[in-house]
Amino acid sequence: MKIPFNKTYLTGDEEKYIHESLLSGQVSGNNQFCKKVLSMMNEKYGYDSAFLVPSGTAALEMGVVLADLQPGDEVIVPSYTFSSTVNAIVLFGAFPVFCDVDPKTMNIDYTKIEVLITPRTKMIMPIDYAGVPCDIDEIMEISNRHHLIVLQDCAQSYGSYYKGVPSGKKAHIAAFSFHETKNYSAGEGGLLINNVPEWHLRATFLQEKGTDRSLVINGQKNKYSWVDKGSSYLLSDLLAAVLYAQLHHEDEIKAKRAKLTEAYINLFKPYVINDTIQIFEPKDYVQLNHHAFWAIFPTLEEKLTFMNKLKEKEIYVYIGYIPLHSAPYGLKLGYKPEDVPITEDLGNRIVRLPFYTSLADEGLDYTIKNMKAILFEIYGF
Ligand SMILES: *Cc1c(COP(=O)(O)O)cnc(C)c1O
Repeated sequence: MKIPFNKTYLTGDEEKYIHESLLSGQVSGNNQFCKKVLSMMNEKYGYDSAFLVPSGTAALEMGVVLADLQPGDEVIVPSYTFSSTVNAIVLFGAFPVFCDVDPKTMNIDYTKIEVLITPRTKMIMPIDYAGVPCDIDEIMEISNRHHLIVLQDCAQSYGSYYKGVPSGKKAHIAAFSFHETKNYSAGEGGLLINNVPEWHLRATFLQEKGTDRSLVINGQKNKYSWVDKGSSYLLSDLLAAVLYAQLHHEDEIKAKRAKLTEAYINLFKPYVINDTIQIFEPKDYVQLNHHAFWAIFPTLEEKLTFMNKLKEKEIYVYIGYIPLHSAPYGLKLGYKPEDVPITEDLGNRIVRLPFYTSLADEGLDYTIKNMKAILFEIYGF
């Protein structure tokens, strides 16, 4: 049996809605299915200033433009993230200031943010790694004290909650992804959430190539023109139709994925109790969307043994991110591996386990059984 690291889940409704979208004759952005998706999201999560965009990457970029990031500004960001988080900074001529992570979540360690603030600091960009919300209350408190903007990379945390509040609602701006590797997929797709009411109108301009077309659509003007900078930050209605199908099954998908989290927690429990292997320790006020699962081994060698033995069984795990500060482009920016020491160390020893919705239906027992046997081989218990 072959267990890939990731696999796209189909609900069965995708084709029906794509067909409906095609027949509508209006398949560009902000049409029928985009509206349906946005109103569903607003109802469920209260996302009332929301924009469907072509990707999580585009959501981050649009967010940075909305925050008015300028060349020379500094942005505090964890180094343990996907390249897109930091590309949104460097593409606009700003500079990423890498902050270390909290080993309990692999999210930004908020206690290490304040020492990194300089007169040039403009933003903080935390991420919700593995769908576990970052310490957003503490981060917002720091941002208020220093007048900084918080753009939360929620690419992995659609459907997670922090103190009963949906992920992304507490930051100024949040970016979500509906890439095929995420819980809910449009193939490629993303979502920008804006929580600053005065920025809403400008966000509609940025999404529509810097024009005030939104005012024409809602009847406030009869001709639109170029009013600001912007780009094409629109998700096609065809892809919104796919997303609509997926989000219609949101709770069912979440429930299946919860089984994976539970199985992995049970698998690693003896090793966690014994202080051998580390897994996430989310705060009790966090509710997971069950995006992913990771484990940190005591040494790089033990991690590699675990990975190689699994590969023999055709179970594919993933090494996780190469920390950005010590990746080739991070080094080019002037960083050294030892600049972000905890991230550098944990990044070597972490492994991401197979995690996809249909694994709950097929392959989970096989995966757990083999992992258990291999852990026994390595540790003798
Ligand atoms: C997936 C991901 C992105 C990028 O999303 P795309 O939709 O693939 O552009 C950005 N940041 C993080 C943390 C991600 O996991």
